[in-house]
Amino acid sequence: MESDVFIALGSNQGDRELNLLRAVAEIGKLPGCRITALSGFYDTEPVGGVEQDSFLNAVLRLETALAPQELLARLQGIETDIFKRRRTIPNGPRTMDLDILFYGRQVVAEENLAIPHPRLHERRFVLVPLAEIAPEFIHPLLQTTVAGLLAALKSDERVTKV
Ligand code: ADP
Ligand code: MG
Repeated sequence: MESDVFIALGSNQGDRELNLLRAVAEIGKLPGCRITALSGFYDTEPVGGVEQDSFLNAVLRLETALAPQELLARLQGIETDIFKRRRTIPNGPRTMDLDILFYGRQVVAEENLAIPHPRLHERRFVLVPLAEIAPEFIHPLLQTTVAGLLAALKSDERVTKV
């Protein structure tokens, strides 16, 4: 059982708030999973250069008996089955994006799965909600707290709590 798993949620298509609420409910129903913290919801400016609507983002903490690859498969199942997500433009619009940020202190470097998420420390839309629920969590590779990563961030995209 791993109790320090953090998942980032993001949506910029359809009813974004309803989408996040549904995703939280679906993750909570996964076998061997219990949600132990949920950040507020943040309206955020898209990054990555694709012209698109703003996102609603959040982060949750999960206690889980699922191994990292099983968890990824379950999250992708929610993206496709519940949200009918189709993978088209990289960094493009999506009804739901579910990313594993941390899986305790474990480091995973597999073809289809990298944990810690390789871009989390450069994304304000991830660090702000993450810092709300886990400011003292230490990034297992960068050896810096989430609050420290956020303080060091240079980018200044808009992230507004709703
Ligand atoms: P992104 O989240 O980067 O915008 P996608 O959601 O389409 O893009 O994910 C692309 C691929 O990223 C997925 O097929 C998945 O295998 C891979 N991936 C690697 N590491 C992770 C992670 N930590 N969490 C979620 N997906 C990951
Ligand atoms: Mg993703």
